[in-house]
Amino acid sequence: MHQILIIGSGPAGFSAAIYAARAGLKPILFASSVEPGGELMNTTEVENFPGFPDGIQGPDLMAKMQEQAEKFGTEVKYEDVSEVELLGDVKKVMVTSGQTYEAKSVIFATGSAYKKLGLPAEERLSGHGISWCATCDGFFFKEKTIAVVGGGDSAMEEATFLTRFASKVYVIHRRDTLRASKIMQQRAFDNPKIEFIFDSEVADIAGSDSVTGLTLRNLKTGETSELEVQGIFVAIGTDPRTRLVHNQLELTAEGTIAVQDQSSKTSAKGVFAAGDVIDSVYRQAIVAAGAGAKAALDAEHFLASLED
Ligand SMILES: Cc1cc2nc3c(=O)[nH]c(=O)nc-3n(C[C@H](O)[C@H](O)[C@H](O)COP(=O)(O)OP(=O)(O)OC[C@H]3O[C@@H](n4cnc5c(N)ncnc54)[C@H](O)[C@@H]3O)c2cc1C
Repeated sequence: MHQILIIGSGPAGFSAAIYAARAGLKPILFASSVEPGGELMNTTEVENFPGFPDGIQGPDLMAKMQEQAEKFGTEVKYEDVSEVELLGDVKKVMVTSGQTYEAKSVIFATGSAYKKLGLPAEERLSGHGISWCATCDGFFFKEKTIAVVGGGDSAMEEATFLTRFASKVYVIHRRDTLRASKIMQQRAFDNPKIEFIFDSEVADIAGSDSVTGLTLRNLKTGETSELEVQGIFVAIGTDPRTRLVHNQLELTAEGTIAVQDQSSKTSAKGVFAAGDVIDSVYRQAIVAAGAGAKAALDAEHFLASLED
């Protein structure tokens, strides 16, 4: 039986693996067959991860994290976990190729998917004018005209934050009223750089190398119009990847895995969680990496307590 299995290969998973491997726990990390490396594989320059004053490409950062985890003895499996059994003393992790792994502890670091608009241009222009994270990418839009899509608190927060950089921010929302809290709405309404476009959706995104404009469709009249922008931030929500643990672990009202106090301990003994799958607020690589380290330390203490 293994000491520890880690599910997820983003900053949380690899950081947990580095700590667990250095503690001699010989972790196995399931990296997924389709998108190993996590969300940072979808971006270009990462400028806010400490230690890289000149910035680093997202995929390069993830390759370095993996190299560091493997150097200390982490075994990386490019497998998708299809099922888990977490409630007994022996944890079971089943992968799509049919194998079952058993361990005394498990760390969940499966991340959270940003909801997408579902447009063909979205993948192609991701990191080239299309972003899901104002904190990460706002800096690249100094004096540009941009659009934020969404009507909730996070859309208002992103739009207001982006006015620090952009010369103009359009907020595009499908309805004629916002879901955001009154105070967040008011802050956005009061901001002279923000203009609202209601009852509208983004029908297409133009640009060959980077975003140059949007086609908008008015949902009441059906009419389409063009809007010239150099960037678009999609803020229509996130889906924490918790499908595997429904009915086994407690979740929060936001749909993330619930952890106890400041720790990474979930509602099941010996099961820990870290990164965006527990975080509906910060969602940053450095925060996920820190949470991964905490999860490995919590797991290490748990395994030591079993020996006692
Ligand atoms: C376009 C973009 C740009 C960003 N830029 C920045 C930035 O500049 N700076 C910054 O700090 N943050 C940035 N972020 C946010 C950052 O990427 C996330 O906060 C961070 O990656 C979260 O790490 P994580 O390890 O929790 O999850 P993730 O990075 O999402 O990794 C989770 C991994 O688990 C895998 N997984 C899920 N389910 C399974 C399963 N069943 N079996 C096997 N594997 C599974 C997934 O495939 C994925 O590889 C950006 C995000 C995006 C989308």
